[in-house]
Amino acid sequence: MTLLSVRNIASFYGASQALFDVSLEAREGEVVALMGRNGMGKTTTIRAICRLTPPQAGEIHFAGRKTDRMRPHQIARLGVGLVPEGRRCFPNLTVEENIKAAARSGRWTLQAVNTLFPRLADRRNQLAATLSGGEQQMLAIARALATNPKLIILDEATEGLAPVIRQDIWAAVKTLKGEGQSILIVDKTLSELLPVADHCVVLEKGRSVWTGSPDALDADVQERYLGV
Ligand code: ATP
Repeated sequence: MTLLSVRNIASFYGASQALFDVSLEAREGEVVALMGRNGMGKTTTIRAICRLTPPQAGEIHFAGRKTDRMRPHQIARLGVGLVPEGRRCFPNLTVEENIKAAARSGRWTLQAVNTLFPRLADRRNQLAATLSGGEQQMLAIARALATNPKLIILDEATEGLAPVIRQDIWAAVKTLKGEGQSILIVDKTLSELLPVADHCVVLEKGRSVWTGSPDALDADVQERYLGV
């Protein structure tokens, strides 16, 4: 069943157009990789889905509802859990307080996210500000999960993180996938991203130009659109 459908959206920052024609679909239980070189519109597409940057044209449906005119908190309540680029936890709350502030009932209890990320359990009473970048990313994922979202969106899931932590995060993504969690993910490490993806959508200059399975994303496509 289709969970998210983005159809022909356009988006602007002031007078400057960032998205011209982006379409994508995510089905329940699927991992969709949103790809493209720097500046091609991945973050803006995610912001449009969450309506942090409202789309000016096109339609977005999520969980059977038309969401492109809804407020961001309504979209979150419908079940979109965003892990934004650059994280953004509450620095002056502890790890546990950050998670509890987001929590809604469901499978992802405080205990369940602590099992997924034991490092967070060890640091439960530490202020978020004192965590490493990688731990903050774990916390951002834990917080999004604690809302028990139908779809979790990870923008630059592992960018700039230490290798050990990246592995922990990929392991968590695999666990989530194994549980049938729907995921929309952006990440530059294709060797990690492609094996977990069910479906890829490639953006070029604000347009979705290629979509297909990771197996079909051959060297030609990679060279053309991803600069690999
Ligand atoms: P990256 O991998 O660098 O994050 P991206 O694919 O996520 O790239 P976006 O961040 O969505 O791309 O940017 C799409 C276009 O919109 C780019 O041309 C970018 O310069 C522009 N843009 C992004 N944010 C803003 C902003 N706040 N104001 C003006 N233009 C912006």
